[in-house]
Amino acid sequence: MPELRRDPILGRWIIISTERGKRPTDFIVETNSVKGGFCPLCPGNENTTPPEVLSYGREAGPANSPGWSLRVVPNKYPALVIEGELDKEGDGIYDKMNGIGAHEVIVESPNHEDAFSSQSPDKLRQIFWAFRDRIIDLSRDSRFRYVMVFKNYGRAAGASLEHSHSQLVALPILPRMIVSELEGSLSYYRYKERCIFCDVIRQELKQQVRMVCENEHFISIAPFAPRSPFEMWIVPRRHSSSFVALGEESFHDLAMIFSESMRRLNACIPNVPYNFVLHTAPLRSQPLDHFHWHFEIMPKLTSIAGFEWGSGFYINPIPPEDAARFLREVQI
Ligand SMILES: [Zn+2]
Ligand SMILES: [Zn+2]
Ligand SMILES: [Zn+2]
Repeated sequence: MPELRRDPILGRWIIISTERGKRPTDFIVETNSVKGGFCPLCPGNENTTPPEVLSYGREAGPANSPGWSLRVVPNKYPALVIEGELDKEGDGIYDKMNGIGAHEVIVESPNHEDAFSSQSPDKLRQIFWAFRDRIIDLSRDSRFRYVMVFKNYGRAAGASLEHSHSQLVALPILPRMIVSELEGSLSYYRYKERCIFCDVIRQELKQQVRMVCENEHFISIAPFAPRSPFEMWIVPRRHSSSFVALGEESFHDLAMIFSESMRRLNACIPNVPYNFVLHTAPLRSQPLDHFHWHFEIMPKLTSIAGFEWGSGFYINPIPPEDAARFLREVQI
């Protein structure tokens, strides 16, 4: 019997439809490669990208030369542009503004073949540290209100370059999804005077049915109302609304839990395409009692078709309780 489930933060409904009793092996990733050939992100090709805004690991030599272990460059084909004023304009009932923003590519490694899911914890820690560095730097620009950090892996998930990279977009307005999470968590807080995410953590630790893995500072869960099979959320155990407030000592645990979650996912569905996003408080906001930063990892295994698009309901063929069990039990 299909089941309707409501996400407790967003109020978004999803449909768990298990009629065909899916297992991980039912999701075969046929072709996941993106175009090969010349790679602008490989060492030696630094002059083919816009000048870097951050690099780690280069001990000698000028900027934009080889020797780096991680490099951040503006996107050559940005969705938003950094130069200009943020002019807001009304046209009758319509509002518009200039497409001001920053769009950057985090080149995670000089090695073209490296995959995020098999990177060492030290490397992952460096990547997360780069996210932090860039968010802090971009938060100094008062035109920006939010930095969306995300990764697309595999053609089906929107990646257009094979070389392992993640991206960020600094935005002059708060994305709708963040507004919804802020509003949903605030209305829960007003009612219960507790953070909904902290309550989710408590319940998941107690019930132990949607847990994927855990360590001292983080838990990884299959959320109660997942949009996609094998969706996972990585949530810090200690309440904090902002990713950039995370202490340096916790980055190791973040890298470890991300690494384990991704290795488990890959062991269930080899070479699975996926997206992940960071949800954190708006730039320059005071610590919020009701909001709790987290990563959401969304494997790309089902397509968004007319029904989902028109209704906003996602149909998920695997209950998260089953997905979490597959993820926990798989050999890694
Ligand atoms: Zn490359
Ligand atoms: Zn919390
Ligand atoms: Zn979220």
